[in-house]
Amino acid sequence: MINGSCLCGSVKFQIKKISKPMEICHCTRCRKQSGASSATTVMVLAEDFNFIQGNGLIKSYSAPILYSSPAYQSHFCKLCGSKVPHINGHDTHIEIPAGLFDSDPVVRPDKHIFVEFLPSWDTITDDLPQYKMAALIKLRHNRDLPSDFKLKSHYDEK
Ligand SMILES: [Zn+2]
Ligand SMILES: [Zn+2]
Repeated sequence: MINGSCLCGSVKFQIKKISKPMEICHCTRCRKQSGASSATTVMVLAEDFNFIQGNGLIKSYSAPILYSSPAYQSHFCKLCGSKVPHINGHDTHIEIPAGLFDSDPVVRPDKHIFVEFLPSWDTITDDLPQYKMAALIKLRHNRDLPSDFKLKSHYDEK
């Protein structure tokens, strides 16, 4: 079993196994949400995930939609503000913020994603593959972005 918890320890969970890649995301929203240069997360099958306690303490925020639904969502412990996993009943996979692990999740990050959003004050110094949005869409959905596609942000300097 792999254990995890929030900053204050009120939300605790257990995972049987991790079956998806661990990714380091530099997208604007993950940066805002984590307050860091990136957010490292991993997806697990819903059936391999269990809350031990604190499920009722979780609050959610949905960001305005940039491209298409579903909205980017942030789930956090209402006592300490830690980003935490969230179960909604119909998702097949649950996203786990990797910083919450209290035991070794065994998997390691396998790529950087949304690297065009890497902040000016940070540099990637490892040898992991780096994916921009277009390459990631190609990898995940095997399709190209429209030729007139423009990156959007709600935080552009005015
Ligand atoms: Zn907490
Ligand atoms: Zn992201």
